[in-house]
Parts: sequence; structure tokens; C-alpha cells
Amino acid sequence: MARECDLFVIGGGSGGVRAARLAAQKGANVVLAEKAALGGTCVNVGCVPKKLFFYAASFAAEEDAARSYGWREAALGELDWQTLRENKNREIARLNGVYEKLLADAGVQIIKAEAKLSGANSVKAGGEEYKAARVLLACGGAPARAKISGAELAALSDDMFFLPQLPRRAVVVGGGYIAAEFAGILSGLGVQTAICYRADLPLRGFDEDLRKHLAEHLPRAGVQVCAGAAPEKIEKDGGGFRVSLAGGAQLPADLVLMATGRKPETGALGLENAGIQTRANGTIPVDDDFATEAKTVYAVGDILQTPALTPVATAEAEVFAARVFGGEKTAKMDYENIATAVFSNPPLATVGLTEEKAKEGGRKIKVFRSEFSPLRASFSKKGERALMKMITDEQSGKVLGVHIAGKDCAEMIQGFALALRLGAKKSDFDSTVGVHPTSAEELVTMR
Ligand code: FAD
Ligand code: NDP
Repeated sequence: MARECDLFVIGGGSGGVRAARLAAQKGANVVLAEKAALGGTCVNVGCVPKKLFFYAASFAAEEDAARSYGWREAALGELDWQTLRENKNREIARLNGVYEKLLADAGVQIIKAEAKLSGANSVKAGGEEYKAARVLLACGGAPARAKISGAELAALSDDMFFLPQLPRRAVVVGGGYIAAEFAGILSGLGVQTAICYRADLPLRGFDEDLRKHLAEHLPRAGVQVCAGAAPEKIEKDGGGFRVSLAGGAQLPADLVLMATGRKPETGALGLENAGIQTRANGTIPVDDDFATEAKTVYAVGDILQTPALTPVATAEAEVFAARVFGGEKTAKMDYENIATAVFSNPPLATVGLTEEKAKEGGRKIKVFRSEFSPLRASFSKKGERALMKMITDEQSGKVLGVHIAGKDCAEMIQGFALALRLGAKKSDFDSTVGVHPTSAEELVTMR
């Protein structure tokens, strides 16, 4: 006989865990199935291990800075990759345990198995059939390979966290978040790194000035840039690989990372059994309750066509739980002014509209822009620059967007996201007394 529950959650990542926990705390009988490790992409092969690697890579730049301040013995030597990888694995295993305890403490039943919809109110998992009043799809996404010859020879971002050893030379294919971040990480860890992307600039959709800033600074971070160069072929070459680019250039590598986007994990979910159709890109349409066209099946996180970011997945899960299990119909997901950071070298952070988007529809805007050598880099000969940019509405003075490139910008942007959410005007920034001497004060002193 089928087991019964109020909510069956498929996927124990950022969105699924948050939704399961909150629904259980509101009194629902919840079952959650996870086919891999609890915590999902973010904890296991995304945000967290990536940020640990980013920190590891940052120490190389600190060494340069330290020397410019007179530290003669600032020599880190060579990275012991095994130590970094094993320390990371230990920390992730600890977090897996934290997630398991969070769910167990909330009374959620965990099934460590793949789950599949067998109907709009039924799920098969671990050899059992479950009858669920509601089902939540929180299955996330997986890396997608560009369809080029030899694509299968390339590593994917998931592989980067478990490499047996660091390569001597790496080619990163793609110009999005993951490509930009891993180019900086690999180079910082001592790998001879090249990045190739098909557009003129990396990070399509970001403010043009930030994109240019990153493209200019990548070589200073030791990364070879091949712009406007679509990858055409990857071949084996001796013990390594050769990447051929449009235009004829060829890049040798011991490792090729293909970071050409991700696709939702909806293929084997049995969506057809519940009468749910996906968009052409695999994402699932939902309403304000996060209900799919099968009204008892809901979805949150990376399988939606919303920003693929952990705080978005958890916020969607919160709204879902509030509306569906808490009766709070006024709770609504707000996708405006979501801040985001790219942990590249240099890092970038952004909230609100880009200059290009703000101008759409003929809106009159005022742009404030400041590019400067940060105080910290006073003695360095590396030419490090920081960039701060603010887009305002000319008529109302409302701040529409803030874009920052440079050290610690990811830490700065959170506060500015709050200011934009509260509808801050340029005059509010102007009347805010700065914190001196910092880079962030530039944003309240722009005239
Ligand atoms: P996921 O976290 O992917 O969880 C889905 C879970 O469902 C997975 O554990 C999967 O195994 C499981 N699953 C799938 N199908 C089934 C099934 N049929 N049965 C059982 N289980 C199933 N975001 C940020 O905000 N900041 C960052 O710095 C950042 N860095 C990133 C770096 C990388 C390399 C990557 C790849 C992503 C990064 N992200 C970052 C994005 C972030 O990880 C995702 O947006 C977030 O994890 C999405 O959460 P989710 O719950 O939708 O899916
Ligand atoms: P992105 O969508 O950010 O970038 C994909 C890149 O691949 C683009 O540069 C795109 O080029 C390129 N590309 C796609 N298809 C091809 C092709 N056939 N040939 C050559 N190039 C191709 O995807 P990512 O995989 O980098 O990251 C996925 C998502 O994960 C991000 O969008 C983000 O939401 C999330 N993430 C967030 C992070 C953070 O918050 N710090 C870090 C990592 C991931 P083009 O622009 O020309 O289309």
C-alpha cells in the first residue's frame, strides 16, 4: 500500500531543504528524497566549495601585496592541492550532516534515493510508492556541454572539486559566472590558465563597464584571454588536449573545463505522468504559489526560469511554504533588485539595472562612475583598479543600479541592495556620511 504524506519534496538542495523544513514546522507531514548528497549543488559542487577555492587562490595575490609592503619572506611556495581538496571535503561532509540534522529535527523523513513522479499526487522513490497531497520539485540543474566535437573530453564544474591533481595548463571554455570564477581560481592556484569565450566580452547581461573591467584585468591576474573565439573542437594531444577555436587558434591544455551553462534536471522526473510541460530550455512554468500546471505539483529553484542563485531558491521556498502551508497569500516573491557577485579575479558585484537596461524605453538616466587605484594597492606595480558605478533616474533621482569591481565588492553590495530595495535616491547616498578610508565610501561621495 502506498505511504501517505502532506508534502513530498524531490531534491535536497537549497530550495528543497528550506521548503521541507518550513512546511514541517508549519505542521505538515513531509518526506524528502535526495539522490546524491544533502545540500545540493550549492553545498557540494557550487557556492561553498567554490568560495573555499576562491579564498585559497586569493592568497597568491596577497603575497604580491605583502611584498609591496616590505614583507621579504612573503613566499607561499607551492599549493598542496591534496590538503586543500581534503580540507574542503571534510567541511562539506560536516555541512551534509548539518543539513540532515536540520531536516530530522524538523521531523522531515529523508529518503536517500532518486524520486520520480508517477502522477500529480504520487511519487516513486527507493522502491516505495508515496501518495502525496502535494509534491514539490526542487531538482536544480546540471552542467551542460556545448555541442562541439570532443566535448566529452572536457571536465565539467562538478569535476573541478574532486580533481586528483591540479593540471599544469588549463583552458576554460565559456564566459559566464562559472568560467570567470574558475579562470581566476585556477590561475591563483598556480595553473597556467586561458579562458575563451565567443562574445567580445565575458558575462553577457552584466553592465558593459564591469564586463570590460574584468576582460582588462584577467591578463593582470595571469589569465590568457581569447575573446570572440567560439570553441570548435577538443582533441586528445599526447597526454593532454588541444582546443581549436573559431578563427584558427589552438590552445594546448592538460585540462579543459567546459563552463557553457547549466540545464534543469527535469529529464527523468516523470513530468509527463503529471501532465507538466517544460519550456524549450527545460524550465518549468509556475504561478505565484509556485504551482505548476498540475495544481498539486509545485516547483522552486534552478528548475524555474528565475535567477539560478541559492538565495533565490531559498526565498522561493519560503514564499511557497508561507502561501501553501501558512495560508499567507500576501507573501510574494520579488525578483527586483536581487544582488549578485561573481567571485572572479577581480570580483564583481551588482544590483539593479545595468546602464544598458536602464536606458531601454528611452528613460533619461544619470550615470556616476569612478575608477581608481585602491589605497591598498598604493605600492603595487600591478595596476590594480577598482570600479564603482551608479545608475540613477534623472527625473526622480532614484538609484536604479549599483555596479562594483574590486576586492571585497561582494561584501559591499549587500548593503546597497537594501538601499535600492528601500527606494534610495542619489540624494540619500549624498547625505550619507562615508566610512573613511574605504573603497565603499566612493559610492556616497560620487558627484
Ligand atoms: P540544487 O541545489 O541543485 O539541488 C537539487 C537537488 O536535487 C540535488 O541535490 C540533486 O541531486 C537532487 N535531485 C535532482 N533530481 C532528483 C531526483 N529525481 N530525485 C532525488 N533527488 C534529485 N549561487 C549563488 O547564489 N552564489 C554562488 O556563489 C554560486 N556559486 C555556484 C558555483 C557553481 C560551480 C555552481 C554550479 C552553482 C553556483 N551557484 C551559486 C548556484 C546555486 O548553486 C544554485 O542556484 C542552487 O544550488 C539552486 O538550488 P536548487 O535547490 O534549485 O537546486
Ligand atoms: P552562464 O549562463 O552564466 O554562462 C554560460 C556561458 O557559456 C556564456 O558565456 C555563454 O556564452 C557560453 N556558452 C553557452 N553555450 C555555448 C556554446 N555552445 N559555445 C560556446 N560558449 C557557449 O552559465 P554558467 O554555467 O557559468 O553558470 C550557470 C548559472 O549558475 C549562472 O548563470 C548563475 O546563475 C549560477 N552561478 C552563480 C554563481 C555566483 O552566484 N557567483 C557562480 C556560478 C554559477 P554567451 O554569453 O555568448 O551565450
